[in-house]
Amino acid sequence: MSLNLFWLQCGGCGGDTWSLFNASSPNVVDFLEAQDINVLWHPSLSVQSHEEHRETIRRVTEGRERLDVLCVEGSVIRGPGGTGMYDDFDGSPKKDLVYALAAQAKHIVAVGTCASFGGIGADGEIEATGLQFHKHEPGGFLGEDFVSGGGRPVINIPGCPCHCDVIIGTLSAIAQGTPPELGDYNMPLEWFGVMVHQGCTRNEYHEYRVEEKRMGEKGCLFFYLGCHGPLVHGVCNKLLWNGRSSKTRVGVPCFGCTRPDFPQLYPFFETRNIEGIPLELPEGMDRAHYMAYKGMAAAAAPARLKKRKTRI
Ligand code: SF4
Ligand code: SF4
Repeated sequence: MSLNLFWLQCGGCGGDTWSLFNASSPNVVDFLEAQDINVLWHPSLSVQSHEEHRETIRRVTEGRERLDVLCVEGSVIRGPGGTGMYDDFDGSPKKDLVYALAAQAKHIVAVGTCASFGGIGADGEIEATGLQFHKHEPGGFLGEDFVSGGGRPVINIPGCPCHCDVIIGTLSAIAQGTPPELGDYNMPLEWFGVMVHQGCTRNEYHEYRVEEKRMGEKGCLFFYLGCHGPLVHGVCNKLLWNGRSSKTRVGVPCFGCTRPDFPQLYPFFETRNIEGIPLELPEGMDRAHYMAYKGMAAAAAPARLKKRKTRI
């Protein structure tokens, strides 16, 4: 039986859609055909007139059309003053449409950091929030206890944008009847059970604390340039972008776009520190041991690393 999918764009930039369209193995059209996914609506794929679109929404919200998967891209906008009218559909707040569709959906996927946690507008006048989290706090728009028709919480696949293979992988798992196992913040463990640091080609430099102060060089970007690789969960060095690269592979620090508090209210490319000691250390590390170990590791760093004698 084919799976009915509705993709709703709320308060976001559309970047997750373009990430999805960047998928190449398989591409989005082949994927939808192979998994027998029937797109009831996607703003960049559908060719329905506005009236046909309205009728699709009526059929779904009145329970006359099955809704297997609701994908929401962008945050739920509640401003100004809780009215939601900064983002409307046909003169009504789109947040009401989110609620009506969510009430009918068997599975709900929050695509991207805005839909998952509120993202860029979470601290602002537009009163943006995520579907089931507001930054680190459970709740968001639908509430902490919300479960979809399939008895599950919202599946959060953050990223700004979310990696295309994570979107396709999540929809694929749902289509196969095996929705992904979720970890912290209801993120699928398959893709968010790893840190961005895992798989970074600079790991040997990190190990010996051979650090860079300028972008584009070969060493580690943690101590001075704000790299969030050991602090955040994400696939950037596991799945790579365009199948071949990532920020850290080209010398740009990870700035943690999958984090619930992204974008952070401090500079992206500086490591916050006290007396030269970073405020945030790799997840799970004890400060005293980490600093002692790093001191010894730096003293033991091989000359080939100090001289940056690696090819990448
Ligand atoms: S998470 Fe990033 S890419 Fe996705 S809608 Fe928000 S700003 Fe755009
Ligand atoms: S550059 Fe970032 S991700 Fe890579 S090894 Fe250093 S801290 Fe880890």
